[in-house]
Amino acid sequence: MSTTPWLPPVERWEELGEALGVELLIARDDLLPFPLPGNKVRKLYAELEGADPDAILLTNGAVTSNHCRTLAMIGARRGQEVHLVLHGDSAERDGAGLRMLSSLGAKYEIVEPESIARELDKVEISSRAQGRAVTRIAGGCHTPAGAKSFRDAGLTIMDRWAPDVIVVASGTGATQGGLAAAAEGRPRTRVVGVSVAREARRGAEAVAEAAAWAGSPNAEIEFLDGYRDGGYGKWTRKTEIAVSQGWMAGLPLDHTYTGKAFAALTDAAGLGGSLRGSRVLFWHTGGLMNFLTGEGASS
Ligand SMILES: *Cc1c(COP(=O)(O)O)cnc(C)c1O
Repeated sequence: MSTTPWLPPVERWEELGEALGVELLIARDDLLPFPLPGNKVRKLYAELEGADPDAILLTNGAVTSNHCRTLAMIGARRGQEVHLVLHGDSAERDGAGLRMLSSLGAKYEIVEPESIARELDKVEISSRAQGRAVTRIAGGCHTPAGAKSFRDAGLTIMDRWAPDVIVVASGTGATQGGLAAAAEGRPRTRVVGVSVAREARRGAEAVAEAAAWAGSPNAEIEFLDGYRDGGYGKWTRKTEIAVSQGWMAGLPLDHTYTGKAFAALTDAAGLGGSLRGSRVLFWHTGGLMNFLTGEGASS
């Protein structure tokens, strides 16, 4: 299994670009040939390269975590057992997300956030005691291999399309960090991460750490925290309008991730204004499940 099984298809969006006053390219990680496409596919395939094919795959995340869903899908395809330690509120416990995890044959339990580390240790110790190998993966796949996978994809995409700016939703920062590493030494290309949760300082530190993992400790980090819109999984009119503008043009967006990044791009008085006339590549990271299951809350 190669590190980068698929590059995102890149599309030109002429009308939407004209409406926004930019030359708009969209890298579609939401259209990978994978049942649950999105940025977690690239990170996890890279993370699992060379890993023991018989080990139990163990990780943690929110009940609605795309990282956990994607790992469950990959585990099913590889015939590998997946064990997830989840946290989340009761409203999401009967949802389509958990039904999908069960259909995929993933084992999971839902614990209080303060018990996650202990529960992971418990599962690992008891599995090993039964003679099973365990591959434990960091939450969100915020790992060196994950960041490198985006550097590799970023290098190819930047070589081919030479964008002035890449705009991407940024959570744990591995995706943006990898892309920032790919942009190092390319004065033409800025990489702008739009925070979906963290405030600027903490977020930028995590992105810089990921860029260093991908080989660029001095990469330029631009991390905008003005579009968080209430925090992780929350949103107001601002994100709602951006999500709707995408769907109206035939581009599926969600309120947790891609809608916030797209809001930054469409903000005439903010980032969007400074991008006028430039070649913008919107790196679409997925998130359709978040939209379809109605996760999160407007505030
Ligand atoms: C996880 C995720 C992100 C954030 O990726 P990071 O590498 O954690 O910054 C963005 N968009 C979607 C749809 C995601 O699932």
